[in-house]
Order: sequence, then structure tokens, then C-alpha cells
Amino acid sequence: MPKISVLPADVYSRIAAGEVVENPASVVKELIENSLDAQAAAVSVEIEGAGKTVIRVNDDGCGMEREDLELCLKRHATSKISAFEDLESLASYGFRGEALFALAGVSRMSIKSRARGGEGWRVAADGGEIIAASPAAMAPGTTVEIKDMFFNTPARLKFLKSDAAEKSRISAVLEESSLANPEVGFSLKSDGRQTLHFPAIKESPRALEERLSAVLGSGTAGGLVPGLVDRQGVRISIFVSPPERLAGSRRFQWWFVNRRPVDARVLQQALYHAFSEFRGRDKHPVIAAFLDLPPESFDVNVHPAKREIRFKSERDVFDLVSGTVKSALARSTAIGGPAPAASAEPAPAYYASAQPFFDLASKPSESFFRRPQSPRWFSPPYRYLGQIEKSYLVFESGGGLTVMDQHAAQERLLFEKYAAEISAGGVSTQRLMLPLPIELPASKAQEILSLQDRLGDLGFEIAPFGRTAVHVLSVPALFEKADDLKDMIGRLLDFMGDPKDAVRQSRREAVEMIACKAAVKAHDSLSEKEALRLLDDLKDCLEPACPHGRPAIWALGRDELARRFSRPGAVPI
Ligand code: ADP
Ligand code: MG
Repeated sequence: MPKISVLPADVYSRIAAGEVVENPASVVKELIENSLDAQAAAVSVEIEGAGKTVIRVNDDGCGMEREDLELCLKRHATSKISAFEDLESLASYGFRGEALFALAGVSRMSIKSRARGGEGWRVAADGGEIIAASPAAMAPGTTVEIKDMFFNTPARLKFLKSDAAEKSRISAVLEESSLANPEVGFSLKSDGRQTLHFPAIKESPRALEERLSAVLGSGTAGGLVPGLVDRQGVRISIFVSPPERLAGSRRFQWWFVNRRPVDARVLQQALYHAFSEFRGRDKHPVIAAFLDLPPESFDVNVHPAKREIRFKSERDVFDLVSGTVKSALARSTAIGGPAPAASAEPAPAYYASAQPFFDLASKPSESFFRRPQSPRWFSPPYRYLGQIEKSYLVFESGGGLTVMDQHAAQERLLFEKYAAEISAGGVSTQRLMLPLPIELPASKAQEILSLQDRLGDLGFEIAPFGRTAVHVLSVPALFEKADDLKDMIGRLLDFMGDPKDAVRQSRREAVEMIACKAAVKAHDSLSEKEALRLLDDLKDCLEPACPHGRPAIWALGRDELARRFSRPGAVPI
């Protein structure tokens, strides 16, 4: 039995922190993950009142001894890591030691647990106040019960959706966990009625397909086409709908990396790229994709709910996934119907390149949207000459001179990237280590909260905090380098809250301002490589100017230089 210890401050402060308890579904997710980490073979979930009244998760996992049971409610108490290095090789779902602690604070909670060969014990907490352990009769395993979620934080209660919506989120969590763990049995009971039941499936090569049938229904699942790439420590197994069986929404798309459900823009881009010839508007592929990748090739420690993932090389992941989907589709259309079950097959030819896997130096995914042709001003090869006033980058090419305003160029790049993310409906965001409080007059705070959806589209997650403040929980990922976040968000809220602004206009302004703030500051020094890279990236932009229209580049050609020096033979103006 693993022993729980409280993480030292220097370890937990390096783990992306934040609130894991948002709604009943996120609670169910955390509890199911705990059960899976405890090696449960069966997990049953019961809810009442869409989880707002009761959530009960029972498992037959390893259970906890009495002293661990008493410790598990403490903040940063975890049996899963003890040093930061462990994070690198993490095999468990949990590792922050936060879920039970956070839940204990906002509900009436009880945990009963019995380790194999031990006695059963029960602890409870009422709004964070811990009630001492007492003996409990039970089978080995653990039952966690959460009653009256958010009873002591009514503001958060208000953010829960309708019962129907919350129930459907909970079902989605169960479906997702079931797909990732076919050998575990899952069930869901809602107000006494069993609504989902996925019996455990014996480990076999077809286990995944069987589980897919149970979750999607055998009609839909039977129509999916399998695809498999298996080589060099990388395995990608997908089940995807052929072009004639697309769905009306994106709801039926699941991505798993090493069994963890994840969201990543690059995965979706790869899928839609592979479907670009086949897909009509408003038609969406169905896919369940299981990626097994070397742990060092990605980072999941970017979001407390651990859904977001960063790949070290997005380009390789893109190629790999779109290649697997394309070859599955090619087979399905060649055969004229669903292909036979997955079997190991060689990787698509264009994937078997000399390029190493997960090459850290390769470019990020924006390059997939390159313009087919370079603009006229771009005349490589360039030789980097240096920087003036740490603001302008100077290059030579073909005997002429090119000068770039590094801030304007960076702004343009971020502007296009961010605008593309917004129009694709998926701004990548990052959760702040600590919520950022912003003081506002009460009326303004109310107004801002009413704009939550629009701010959400822009990548900002805002929560109420008292009457005269809001908390900023997440910001667009491109803010990585920004230091004056607070000032920026203050200004953003200012004009977002102005009802006179047309929605479109304020959005455009927001995007411009955000790109500007996030851009490399003039006065940052750049290496030669970075300078050349910036120039190269700028050529793929729609315009070589900052979003406000300031030029980002100008050039003096060879002839122009000769003319300026009245060289003999120079062509006169
Ligand atoms: P984390 O999962 O990040 O470690 P949690 O707050 O979710 O943090 O849980 C704290 C600890 O309680 C876990 O590390 C684990 O040791 C123990 N625990 C929680 N749920 C269970 C369970 N269902 N079975 C056995 N142990 C559990
Ligand atoms: Mg956990």
C-alpha cells in the first residue's frame, strides 16, 4: 500500500495549482481518477440532484489504512509523488494532493476506506472541519461521498448549469474514463436509476473496440475505421468515422495520451486536416484516438484539471496523427466500406522521414497554415547583421538592406495566431498559479461577470470574488512572457464592459491589444537564430505590419543603395 505524505512546499509550488472542483462532473472525474490510481477493477458512481445534492463513488481498489485516511484530506497530501523529479515519470492520474482537500472545504464529505487485510474506517469533513475517524464495516475498497456541494460558497453554486446539463457532463466523464480503461467496470446511477453500465472487459487486443461499442452503441462503433501506427516507442491507435458517416457536432471526439484524456488544438487540427477533402460544413468526424508516447515527449503539468497537454514537438504529433487518419481513410475508401480490425502496419510513407521524433527544434503548428507563396518583399537568403537600439533587426540579402521592427513583427505574429485560435473556437489558455484579483466598482464587477462567455472566447476565465473584485483564473497561453498582466486585463475589462462598443469592434481591439502586450518588448535582445526565425515567420503573415498598421519591415534594394551613393551605372530614379 502506498503511503501518503504531505508534499514539501518547494515541490507543490512547482506544480500548476488551481481549482480542481468546478462542478459535479469535475468532482466525479477526480474521484474516478483516485479509484483508478488505487487499481480498482470496478467503480460505481451514484448521484442525486445531478450531483449537486449527492455524489458517491465506490471502488474496490487498494483502500487506505487509518492513518492515511486521516491524512488524505490535508492539502498537498498525496501518495503519488514525493519529489519534483517524480513528475517526469508519472504514471498516476493524481499527483497534486488537492482534490480531497479542496472538496472537504466546500461540501459535507465522508470517506470510508478499508485496505486489504485491514479494518474499515470512516472520516468526515463538514465545510473543511475534519471529524475524527471512527470504525466502519465495509468490503475492501473506498467510498467517497460528497453531499451539498458548495453549500458554504453560494456564489459558486450559481455557476452550476441546469440539472440536465450537469448530468450530461457527468455521463461524459464516465464515458471518457471508460474508453481509457476498458478493463475496469463502470456504472452510473442517477436518482436511483442506473443510466450507464459498462462491464469490465478482459484484457485483449479487441478490448478497446468492445468498450467503444458499449459507449457509442454497436451501430456507430461498428462503422468506425481503425488505424494503427506502432513504432519506436510510439503507438497510435485510432477509430475514426469514414467520410460518409460524419456527425453533426464535435461531441464524439476523444483523445487520450498514455490513457489520460487530453485536449490539444494540434490534435484537432491534424484530424480536420486529414478530413479536409471529405468534410462538408457542419459535419464532424467521430474519433477515439489513443496515443502512447514517451513520457518525455509531452508535458501535462500545465493545468490543474490536467486536460491540456503540451507536446515538445507539435509538428511531429500533427504529422503522425493526420498520417494515421489519412491512411485509415484511404483504406476505408479503397475497400468501399469499413475496414477490418486494426492490425500493425507500416507507418505512412511521408511519416517515415529522416526527421527524428519529437525534435525540439522543429516549428510549432502555426506553420501548417503557411501561405502557399512567399510575399514579394521576402528575398532569402538573409544574413543577420545585428540589432540597433535593441529594437530594430538589420539583415543583408542580395546586396540590399532589410530592417525589421522586432516588436511590430512579433505583434503581427501573435495577432494572427491568436485571431486564428479564436475563430477556430479554441484559444489555448493557461491557468495562473494563483488567481489574479482585480478590484472594480461593484457595478463594473457585475458587468464583467455578465461578459464571462465573451471573455471565455478570448481565453480569459474570470470568477466572481467578493462584491468589488473579480478573480482572473486563466489567460491566453500566449501570455507566457507578459509581465504587466494586471494592467492589460484592467484595460481589456474597461472596453469589454463598454456597452457602446460593437461586439466585433471590441473583440478586434481586444485581440490587437493582447497581441501587443504579449509581444516581445522592443529592447529585448534577440539571438541571430531568433532574428532569422522572426523574419521567416513574418513572411507567412497576411501583412508585414503590426495590427495597428505600423510597418514591421522595410528594405533598400541593391540598386537603390547604388543610386543613393551615385555610383557610376546606377539607374537614376
Ligand atoms: P492526489 O490524487 O493528487 O494524490 P487526492 O486529494 O485526490 O490527491 O487524494 C489524496 C490521497 O488520498 C491520494 O494520493 C491517495 O493516496 C489517497 N486516496 C484518495 N482516493 C483514494 C481511493 N479511492 N483509494 C485509495 N486511496 C485513495
Ligand atoms: Mg486525486
